[in-house]
Amino acid sequence: MTNPSPAQINLKYLQQLDQQDPLAKKRDEFILPENTVYLDGNSLGAMPKVAAERSQHVLSQQWSQDLIKSWNSHGWIDLPAKVGEKIAQLTGAAAGQVICCDSTSVNLFKVLSSAMLLQQANNAERTVVLSQAGNFPTDLYMVEGLASLLGKQNCSLKLIDDSDNDLALEQAIADPELAAMTAVLMLTQVDFRSGRLLNMHRLTALAQAKGIIVIWDLAHSAGALPIALDACNVDFAVGCGYKYFNGGPGAPAFIYAAQRHHHKLLQPLTGWMGHKSPFTFDKHYQKAQGIEQFLTGTPAIISMSALDAALDVFNDVDMTLLRQKSLQLSNCFHQLVQQHECLQSLQLLTPANEAERGSQLAYQHEDAYALCQALIKQGVIADFRAPNILRLGFTPLYLRFIDMWTSVEVLADIVRSKEYIKAEYKLKHKVT
Ligand SMILES: *Cc1c(COP(=O)(O)O)cnc(C)c1O
Repeated sequence: MTNPSPAQINLKYLQQLDQQDPLAKKRDEFILPENTVYLDGNSLGAMPKVAAERSQHVLSQQWSQDLIKSWNSHGWIDLPAKVGEKIAQLTGAAAGQVICCDSTSVNLFKVLSSAMLLQQANNAERTVVLSQAGNFPTDLYMVEGLASLLGKQNCSLKLIDDSDNDLALEQAIADPELAAMTAVLMLTQVDFRSGRLLNMHRLTALAQAKGIIVIWDLAHSAGALPIALDACNVDFAVGCGYKYFNGGPGAPAFIYAAQRHHHKLLQPLTGWMGHKSPFTFDKHYQKAQGIEQFLTGTPAIISMSALDAALDVFNDVDMTLLRQKSLQLSNCFHQLVQQHECLQSLQLLTPANEAERGSQLAYQHEDAYALCQALIKQGVIADFRAPNILRLGFTPLYLRFIDMWTSVEVLADIVRSKEYIKAEYKLKHKVT
């Protein structure tokens, strides 16, 4: 819980919060453009200085000078496991259960298949993957792809509309007929549109009590709030390297698989890097015993190195403090919105309750796209999610409380002056 703020907040109050902020100094560790408030770290994290330095070093020393020797001399071959361990520490996982590789989508395919095969091995007649209707599309597409491979009779997707609260999901799990058919519950911890945060501990326990395997997508939660994968007894999880972990565009993602499953798992993307001994060049695949079994091909060393360095920014960060600041930033932002008469047309979609929200705010507005484009033009970078959502991410490592003031002032200006009505802001870009 955060401390309540005064009835009206002003710039001076926000300046005081910045002065008292134990995380304020972290901002110096990032390179940020001038005259910009970056409220999109939930889509692409800002660049840590150490990540830039490391990338340079990988190019100018490792690749160019040490060439292939670097696989050993610079530990390239161990990078997926090394980065995995750093992510494990930030997600409440004991050693040996997290590995860095591929994209979130590909990793979902691997854990989904593994979970389906585990159920099959238990002779369970379970064929349903249960998920949220509003889940990020790629998550649902990966299930569709798997279903087309396994056949509809062996794998089908059932979607639950959970847009208001966890109750609909809990009811689905409690439904004896549905639960008996369900192989996997696949949930995204923080909804990418609304920013709603699910109760990982409770939902995992409820599903497992019915024999369901649980997969969590941490795309909008890893690096944004404390996560306790082991304590919640999660089966599998995946997440992104380029959002709150600041690993850079297209940074590799990660997989968590609970130790208790390792010996009996089979994942279908059986590439040589997941072999127990890649350099014996066996004719047949024999999986590695540990979390390495989730590797497929050669790791993307340049981007994985940038992520490796970026994760060090978290070394001295207390995730409880980070969470507190994240909530406080979004509380201030929303309070400032409420203090402006002209912003009453913005409808908050994110739950106001702190326990039910991640590190973003989503507002519905019929001209959300144009508002977003006008904001970006004025140096406040947010994003738009169809059909009508203005989405703002709050990244406590490099945002200041005064940035909340600046961004809401700019937003109010755009609305008051009707600047956003200009035709130029209606032009749809390929990436929104
Ligand atoms: C961002 C995001 C992804 C991205 O997947 P990629 O394979 O990295 O493109 C997946 N799932 C969720 C829930 C996301 O928010």
